[in-house]
Amino acid sequence: MTQAPTLTGRILTPSDPGFELARKNFNERFNHQPKMVVFCQNREDVQNAVKHARAHQMKVAVRCGRHNYECFSLVEDGMVIDVSDMTTLHIDSQSHTLQVGSGTQLIEIYTKVTQQGYGFPGGICPTVGISGLTLGGGIGLLTRYLGLTCDSLLELELVDSHGNLVTASETENPDLFWACRGGGGGNFGVVTRFKFKLHKVDQVSIFQASWDWEKIPEVIDRWQRWGDTLDSRLTSIIMLHGPEKKDPGSAVASGLFVGPEDELHRILEPLLEVKPRELKVQSHPYFEGLKFFTDDPDPDWMAYWHGAHRKFKNTSAFAYEFLPPEGIETIVRHLEQSPAPDNLVQFETLGGKVSALTEEATAFPHRKARFSLQYQAYWNEDSEEKEHLDWVNAFRKDMLPYTRGAYVNYPDVDVEDFMGMYYAQNQQKLAEVKAKYDPDGFFFFSQSIKPLVKK
Ligand SMILES: Cc1cc2nc3c(=O)[nH]c(=O)nc-3n(C[C@H](O)[C@H](O)[C@H](O)COP(=O)(O)OP(=O)(O)OC[C@H]3O[C@@H](n4cnc5c(N)ncnc54)[C@H](O)[C@@H]3O)c2cc1C
Repeated sequence: MTQAPTLTGRILTPSDPGFELARKNFNERFNHQPKMVVFCQNREDVQNAVKHARAHQMKVAVRCGRHNYECFSLVEDGMVIDVSDMTTLHIDSQSHTLQVGSGTQLIEIYTKVTQQGYGFPGGICPTVGISGLTLGGGIGLLTRYLGLTCDSLLELELVDSHGNLVTASETENPDLFWACRGGGGGNFGVVTRFKFKLHKVDQVSIFQASWDWEKIPEVIDRWQRWGDTLDSRLTSIIMLHGPEKKDPGSAVASGLFVGPEDELHRILEPLLEVKPRELKVQSHPYFEGLKFFTDDPDPDWMAYWHGAHRKFKNTSAFAYEFLPPEGIETIVRHLEQSPAPDNLVQFETLGGKVSALTEEATAFPHRKARFSLQYQAYWNEDSEEKEHLDWVNAFRKDMLPYTRGAYVNYPDVDVEDFMGMYYAQNQQKLAEVKAKYDPDGFFFFSQSIKPLVKK
């Protein structure tokens, strides 16, 4: 056995106070019991953790913001290498770049970059971690304007499966840099630092329109066609709830536009030909505009975290073609059969800057999709689990004739051929990169990329 370095960092084991909180992830559907959580404070702690785990043949999971849908960032009876204490953040206003520790949450980034007049193409939820989001792609409210989160990445540093520090950029280890832009978290090493380019974003306009249940088929069709030809400064989402929802608005479309309110009004006209019950259009500084889409998290984020905790299963697909009437009918049928009013399906417009790159430019292959779909089920009691899982699984499967692929950041262990669904034509190259940087599959979970075996 190789000499194992001593573990360093903030180490919690089951007998330590605070371990229960330390081990839990966002999705309460899971109850994994790791042997220890190593909260790394710097890259050396990460290196020691990897070398220690390897020497002791311990299973590992890598964790940042704890938001993985299928809990791939926790491991039963193994070591969790957690980077969430690594949150240094530096903005260089000369080069318009952001250097950020890999444990940083989106809210920290939004707060700091907006103070200096920048936007950031991150996701909507403020407590999502920068690591998982970026490594899987990253879809949010500036997606059509600035591209995926990973499209603004300039460089990253990671600790590989033998504890070596590796830098990846367009010029240094470009194959790894390619793989870390859409190949999904936890596959190639433990990222310790990211460098992003920043973009000036000042004033934005936001909208929200809601329609009654009866109009859902018409609204879906109108939204998908309108969204396809949109000005790339506007990114839109639409959330569709079943008819039991107490809030009479069963379809709620919203969006963020990097431009003035009067221009947004004009862009909205074709969508609003299906007359909404309610419409809001407002102009805000960018940070205020973001807050419109999400709760402002408590500065004590652990308290916020506890408030938000629930059991859920979310799963995804992409629409490459417009949904035909039968596809829209399938959506309506499943929403009508939903076991609870909180369950929903959500679409997010793609196109714009996302589709300006080819499918092979980074590991994220779904650049030519028109929009993403996310089927979402939420519940609290174990006794409710089966009906929700059955509902969400059947919903995704019945939509397969009208959709293609799935988003690695919305992972689902029930997706058949996950490599093909997440990575399409990029799967072989990802397996090659895995073979180079993690040849013995040290970083392993149920949907990790397997190293390519040369014949
Ligand atoms: C409430 C909620 C809202 C969301 N909203 C959006 C959204 O708007 N847009 C969007 O695109 N996605 C969204 N997501 C999905 C989100 O992008 C993914 O769940 C993402 O992987 C979470 O990253 P994390 O660091 O928070 O999670 P974690 O669970 O900590 O990690 C996620 C994955 O990345 C790996 N990983 C973590 N840290 C590292 C590291 N330092 N180095 C290497 N691998 C690492 C983990 O092993 C795991 O496989 C949302 C998820 C939730 C639960």
